Amino acid sequence: MSDSADTGFPHRHLLGIEGMLPPAISFLLDLADTYVEQNRAVDKKKSSLRGRTQVNLFFEPSTRTSTSFELAGKRLGADVLNMAVARSSVSKGETLIDTAMTLNAMHPDVLVVRHQDSGAVHLLSQKVGCAVINAGDGSHEHPTQALLDALTIRRRRGRLDGQVVAICGDILHSRVARSNIHLLNTMGACVRVIGPPTLMPRNIEELGVEVHHDMRKGLAGVDIVMMLRLQMERMQGAYVPSLREYFHFYGLDQEKLSLAKPDALIMHPGPMNRGVEIDSTVADDINRSVIREQVEMGVAVRMACLDALTRHLPNVGAPL
Ligand code: ASP
Repeated sequence: MSDSADTGFPHRHLLGIEGMLPPAISFLLDLADTYVEQNRAVDKKKSSLRGRTQVNLFFEPSTRTSTSFELAGKRLGADVLNMAVARSSVSKGETLIDTAMTLNAMHPDVLVVRHQDSGAVHLLSQKVGCAVINAGDGSHEHPTQALLDALTIRRRRGRLDGQVVAICGDILHSRVARSNIHLLNTMGACVRVIGPPTLMPRNIEELGVEVHHDMRKGLAGVDIVMMLRLQMERMQGAYVPSLREYFHFYGLDQEKLSLAKPDALIMHPGPMNRGVEIDSTVADDINRSVIREQVEMGVAVRMACLDALTRHLPNVGAPL
């Protein structure tokens, strides 16, 4: 918490959803709603981040999240720098903290960081003088993904409370699942997690979710079906017997989907592995799938986060 309470968003950084209170979440979602309209207009550019420098520091590959943060910063008028980590000093052996301190010396206002290790972004936020946004750390949290998912659901359904959401697949390695569980529970939704025992974190029920290993039982009557990718890059050894068998038991197809509510929405954070966790007929179902809408909401949500975190910084509103 900081002196920025008067801005409506009482946090200096956005490191995770855990611990965020409903008013802060609603504040970001309401602000993002206004940016959805702006992004659909011909003139998409604002100047609220004029003079600000945003550095995107991605230690893990990303398509959607990095382009979305870049676009978000540019639409708000910031100078945006994308650090290609593979070509940077990191590949020459510089540590995360050295890189952060080097960047810090250049006076950025916001650092957007993705890192393969859970907790790395939090550590970095303690070493720099600017605002830090977690763009995904290991299997820990991916707060802007949960916010964009919430915005998508809220715009479609008008509310989050009371919605029954099934998060399905590789829960163990998923930062998306963790952030969504925190957000949806905080906002009064009811969360079920569905997946094989090998991909279910121990004691996950302590986070306030209903645990299912049978897709058919878990999907019964849900409002939202959120599918997750198998995070092969975080697996050492075999967690599933074969991809074919995984699809048979846990892949979303029309037959399994028919157990959810007739108007249940289908979500996926991307990238999708068609035929592994989701069948193409379901992913491309124009009446049920909101996967593209999630991408659109992503830009608006990231604009809201950048805006909220920079409002309290010195010099905002000062005459030029
Ligand atoms: N894009 C999401 C993430 O970065 C989900 C995924 O990669 O499967 O966590």
